[in-house]
Amino acid sequence: MPTVAITLDCEAADYPRCYTRDYIKVAEEFTIPITWMIQVSGKDPMGNVQLYYKEYLHRIPSWHEFGLHLHFEDRNGRYVEEPRERGELIQMGKDMLKQAHIKPTAFRAGSYALIPPDLKYLEDMGILVDSSGIPNCRRHPERGGRPDSTGQARGHRPSTPEGDLSAPVRAGSRLCPCPSGVASERKLTGD
Ligand SMILES: [Zn+2]
Repeated sequence: MPTVAITLDCEAADYPRCYTRDYIKVAEEFTIPITWMIQVSGKDPMGNVQLYYKEYLHRIPSWHEFGLHLHFEDRNGRYVEEPRERGELIQMGKDMLKQAHIKPTAFRAGSYALIPPDLKYLEDMGILVDSSGIPNCRRHPERGGRPDSTGQARGHRPSTPEGDLSAPVRAGSRLCPCPSGVASERKLTGD
């Protein structure tokens, strides 16, 4: 039987609605630990974290897990491709969460756009699990996993079960890959 982890991308600062309180209620009712992936973006490093710190984090019981959901964007919202710059963004994400007293142990890249050089930086900051891969999907190799302007991943094609990053790439990494299955808000709420 597969082990399933429930993870939520927490990026309420970018959306008009937020269901965090409802998710906490459901988690308590059924005693389900959730991994809360708090979003940090280079565009507005502290904005989203501050919102969660003020409104939601104190409501989440200590037996839940926290993760970093990092949007690889610079100050101007430009997608960052250069590995060293990405490493700095990962470090910045860690620092932002630290200010909210969170030590993340899980990671998910914005638009699932993780590249192999990112793995080392994630290991160094103490991340244990990466869930940036989508089973049976892979981004277009020429796009390097880059999301398009709508934020959607494009050019998916059949790949390894680990998702974006092939087994040989991950073989040298201590990070545990946890492939994502995606449930959209529409599916969850019936809107
Ligand atoms: Zn996101």
